[in-house]
Amino acid sequence: MSSRKKAQPKLVVVSNRLPFSKVHDDKGEFRWERSTGGLITAMDPILRSTGGMWIGWDGHTVSNIHDSYAQFDIADINSAEKHAKGSYGIAVVPLTSKEYREYYIKFSNGVLWALFHYFFEKSSIDIKAWKVYETVNKRFAHYINDVTSEDDIVWVQDFHLFMVPYFLRKMRPESRIHFFLHTPFPHIDIFSILPWQRIILESLLCCNSIGFHHKQYLRNFRGAVEAYRREKRSSGESSVEESVVTNIYANPISVDFELLDRTSRLERVRKRAGEIKEKAGCSKVILGVDRIDYSKGIKERLLALELMLEEEPGLREKFFYYQLVVPSREELDAYSGLKKEIDEIIGRINGRFSTGLWTPVHYNYGKLPFKELVSFYLAADIALVTPLRDGMNLVCKEFVAAHSDEDGVLVLSKFAGAIAEIKNCIAVNPYNIEDIASALKWSMNMHAPERRKRMRKMRKKIKHNNINTWLDRCMEYMHDREDGMPA
Ligand code: UDP
Repeated sequence: MSSRKKAQPKLVVVSNRLPFSKVHDDKGEFRWERSTGGLITAMDPILRSTGGMWIGWDGHTVSNIHDSYAQFDIADINSAEKHAKGSYGIAVVPLTSKEYREYYIKFSNGVLWALFHYFFEKSSIDIKAWKVYETVNKRFAHYINDVTSEDDIVWVQDFHLFMVPYFLRKMRPESRIHFFLHTPFPHIDIFSILPWQRIILESLLCCNSIGFHHKQYLRNFRGAVEAYRREKRSSGESSVEESVVTNIYANPISVDFELLDRTSRLERVRKRAGEIKEKAGCSKVILGVDRIDYSKGIKERLLALELMLEEEPGLREKFFYYQLVVPSREELDAYSGLKKEIDEIIGRINGRFSTGLWTPVHYNYGKLPFKELVSFYLAADIALVTPLRDGMNLVCKEFVAAHSDEDGVLVLSKFAGAIAEIKNCIAVNPYNIEDIASALKWSMNMHAPERRKRMRKMRKKIKHNNINTWLDRCMEYMHDREDGMPA
């Protein structure tokens, strides 16, 4: 028996973007900027405490990829990271600007995002972009193979990297490879539009576990796998994945409840929430917070507001609607066109219904710092979260977690993944503007005891199903497979 001590297997998170982006200032100097989001909140502590690794792109395109792979410790990024407890490795996978356009903008967002959110008419099937997508996925797989050990637990995140398991499995037949999808997995009728559906399924079936946010996505995935197997059997082809047992699970991602709750209790945040209410000057503050995306249903929601104002003149001057729209994917026509449409609808509503002292819609196209965002959540009496399709939706969970005053009404789309857990919201069909308008009227008239009862129940749920619960459950599912538990 060898006396050499084997290194402890480490957790390796692989995602399109790293938890930090390389940002250049006017003088061409760069600094690292921390990104935000549920995944980072969940992964950062566990990677720090176990000394894992995060592999991804740093948000900066290069002209020569061969000289641009980089590996360093997170503590080397800046002094704040140096003084934080624990540390983990960072490995940068480089992208050229052409690859960014083809792999990220055109294929990941232009094709996959659109299709997986059921917007098949917006999904422009593009063979050239697919080729680049494959190349970049292969590059990720090779780099994972170079910088990690066979015993490490590789956890690939999201639709940008569907093909990584396929390429990595070829290099590492025995390794533990896991996958988590953060978008919906669509029904087979939609999924089968994708010319590369079979190879994507074969790649996912190379994984030891695959996680989804919602049982329905898992059922859709199973349906696609069954159809694929039937097709293989009837054509007499052998299946590349016959020997691989996969643990497939549904586990909804969540938010850092404690952080949002604690932040909303800060004196500074409560004061700011009070100022927002005071500035609104009318009885109800209604809030919408969305990345600009056709899947978020921003247009339909605004049309519902317009309908409500038409039908109920008595509600004029009774509310203040604040819509925060976070810029996103501006390189795609579907996104820049949407901004123009939103601007026009808001202009029309304000033109039609503003009075000398009151403007119905207040619109901010930008990003808010975390504490300012929490102040808006806390100030809002009603959150309108009406995506036409959303894998999960964290905004609705953040709104609930930030309401430490135990008040507030959540109007939530029945096509958001979060609806499975949040039963005490007002559920709406986001395509039906009459439905949204009447939910809004109901919310505005709801009495305090009813509001509080609902909000307390929603908070209890999110407090329990928080980001750490999500991570712990994922780890259990990944661990089951390693112990040889049946799929
Ligand atoms: N968000 C942010 N700054 C803002 C507005 C929003 O960081 O000014 C964050 C918000 O806190 C949430 C995320 O953006 O965590 C949006 O996540 P969600 O799941 O709702 O939608 P996605 O944009 O991922 O499709």
